[in-house]
Amino acid sequence: TVSEFRNSFTNRDKTLGGLLAASGFDDQSCLSRYRTELYRRNTPHRPSRHLVQRLRSHESLQKRCGPGTDPYQKAVEQLRSGQSSKIDQNCNYLVWISYSGLGNRILTAASAFLYSLLTNRVLLVDRGKDMDDLFCEPFPETSWLLPLDFPLKDKLANFSVTSDESYGNMIKNKVGVEKENFIYLHLDHGYNDNDKLFFCEEDQRTIQNATWLILRSDVYFVPSLFLNSLFEDDLNQLFPEKDMVFHHLGRYLFHPTNAVWGLITRYYDSYMAKADERVGIQVRVFEVESGPFQHVLDQIISCTQIEGLLPQTVSHEIAPPATNPKTKAVLFTSLSLDYYEHIRNMYWEKPTSSGEIVSVFQPSYEGYQQSGKKRHNRKAWAEMYLLSLTDKLVTSGWSTFGYVAQGLGGLKPWIMFRPENRTVPNPPCRRDVSMEPCFHSPPFYDCKKKQGADTGNLVPHVRHCNDISWGLKIV
Ligand code: GDP
Repeated sequence: TVSEFRNSFTNRDKTLGGLLAASGFDDQSCLSRYRTELYRRNTPHRPSRHLVQRLRSHESLQKRCGPGTDPYQKAVEQLRSGQSSKIDQNCNYLVWISYSGLGNRILTAASAFLYSLLTNRVLLVDRGKDMDDLFCEPFPETSWLLPLDFPLKDKLANFSVTSDESYGNMIKNKVGVEKENFIYLHLDHGYNDNDKLFFCEEDQRTIQNATWLILRSDVYFVPSLFLNSLFEDDLNQLFPEKDMVFHHLGRYLFHPTNAVWGLITRYYDSYMAKADERVGIQVRVFEVESGPFQHVLDQIISCTQIEGLLPQTVSHEIAPPATNPKTKAVLFTSLSLDYYEHIRNMYWEKPTSSGEIVSVFQPSYEGYQQSGKKRHNRKAWAEMYLLSLTDKLVTSGWSTFGYVAQGLGGLKPWIMFRPENRTVPNPPCRRDVSMEPCFHSPPFYDCKKKQGADTGNLVPHVRHCNDISWGLKIV
């Protein structure tokens, strides 16, 4: 039972196999940090020893060079003075700009963190409207939040593909990067071929010399890091099971703040804890009009029935009572209420052929994306997290919201393909090949041959995605 499970609290491994530092945090200020596996029961995936060691040494880097330290002060002075001279220190920085929907932000922050780990850089996050409201500090005894008096603070929102300081434009304008005191990395989905050179070995050697890197991205660019030979050995050791990157880094970095943890745990305890099985259904509709759409409902029903995730209903009104019927809790997340209401009614109006008891819930229906609002984003974060606590997960293709849930939960989802011409795709969904998120806009370039190439065909563990044929994912 739930209470027996919770009672084992005292002798459990709260660090998730060494993924989390065992000390250096105030437990009460971030209750979620050491309590996830009371809710997420079946994550057998353990981090490699190499990853654990590397996280500990990265934590000491963040502490030694982070805000408030002498090296940070010196590096900031150099930035403020506009001088390019490389200061003699072992502290280099990557500033992550808060940008785009919450799912995108979580994926890009994880990508930025992996890049920081690989290149020994301190990761600092621009707090935007609410990064500090949603996430606890991931690194002990320091802060990952970019200080408010950071010299380029007011410029962060304005960096774009046309900025002179972007790596792509430095290449295009043949400006030696050693002349600049920071490099802006434009890794947004609308980036150009020069910006994409970021992923090449030769360019990495240059970029790594900069004390300050400023990054704007809205994509999970990890798969292309796996194609860079400079990182190959390291990545092999860090992730012997390659499709675990987001699962480990996501659980390492993103701990819901107490306010969000309250939303998660109250909901879980009320609606999900007691069921024999939990099924998550994430409905994300990328249509201009708001719907509801019949084809979306049809797709949900056919996917869940064909794949045996939800039982069929039978036409007679009364079914013989089953002994010990199985209970299924179905968690819907969607901006609209219509799909959930229909499925809930379906199981109210008719009995199931299997005798299972199906209860259907949806925590919120926000109507439309309101990324600037705190309460809205808290709910979005809580819902991604709740989806990650299910046993079986159905997601909408193309959606980073779903990717976050599958990655945190260590779940290979059933992906509902994005419909075209408002018709249900055939098949409506398919089990994904890995739990990793898809990189939506990878470069198609072979850095060594300096020519175009199908980057989904270069190594066995980086493949095209099921939901976006030109995307890349780690399998
Ligand atoms: P994506 O656009 O599906 O890749 O996901 P993002 O998370 O980046 O952006 C979508 C945003 O719309 C979310 O961050 C939420 O603000 C909102 N949103 C979309 N679907 C849902 C949902 O099911 N529940 C809630 N609460 N918000 C949602």
